[in-house]
Amino acid sequence: MRPLIAANWKMHGDMSWVEKLRDFDRILPPSKRTEIEVLICPPAVFIAPMFKTAGGTSIKLGAQNCHAEETGAHTGEISAHMLKDAGARYVIVGHSERRAGGETSAGVKAKAKAATAIKLKPIICVGESLAQREAGKANATVKRQLSRSLPEGDKYVVAYEPIWAIGTGKTATPDDIESMHAHIREIVGDKVRILYGGSVKPANASDILHTPNVNGALIGGASLEMDSLAAIAKAAM
Ligand code: PEP
Repeated sequence: MRPLIAANWKMHGDMSWVEKLRDFDRILPPSKRTEIEVLICPPAVFIAPMFKTAGGTSIKLGAQNCHAEETGAHTGEISAHMLKDAGARYVIVGHSERRAGGETSAGVKAKAKAATAIKLKPIICVGESLAQREAGKANATVKRQLSRSLPEGDKYVVAYEPIWAIGTGKTATPDDIESMHAHIREIVGDKVRILYGGSVKPANASDILHTPNVNGALIGGASLEMDSLAAIAKAAM
């Protein structure tokens, strides 16, 4: 399985960031990143202009959310089809920042289903809170989230992101990551990529990315600078 290095830009940037694809190419040219897949998930309005720029690169684009319906009266929403049409190949669903805002696993599953139906690959995020981990409920929490969020088949990616490690500078220990990824592997089978997310940076990327059953990373803060994203991508090779 080719490691997937996925950047989640969240609500950062402006139109000038479209050029960051070229910056990334200069730092780590396409010819030097054949063994990995690089994905950038910018705010949705940047996808179409970035897709034009991405013509000369092998960087893929993704979105950070989609609506579960194909079309309709849903003010402010964007469908999976619209994202794909704009150039997205992946869509993140169920990020903990959205689950914290009320998104349920049933809603995540509906979005993942809408995406897989049109061959837009969902990256389904799961992960426990600190209280759940400290209570010894991390595995049960993630199992429950997966059982309620996953669509049929195996055309999706799972991102394990312990909530307490996101944007905090804290990362799970290699042992914790290995054990949680083995637990997820038992549930999703051999064909699904399992990413780790939570304060991945150049300094810890190599250890994390070479942990068994870790098939890539979902990166927030450290993905905003192309030097640091490229350093993480290099660590995957
Ligand atoms: C994320 O939000 O998906 C994430 C992993 O963020 P960070 O890398 O900043 O912890």
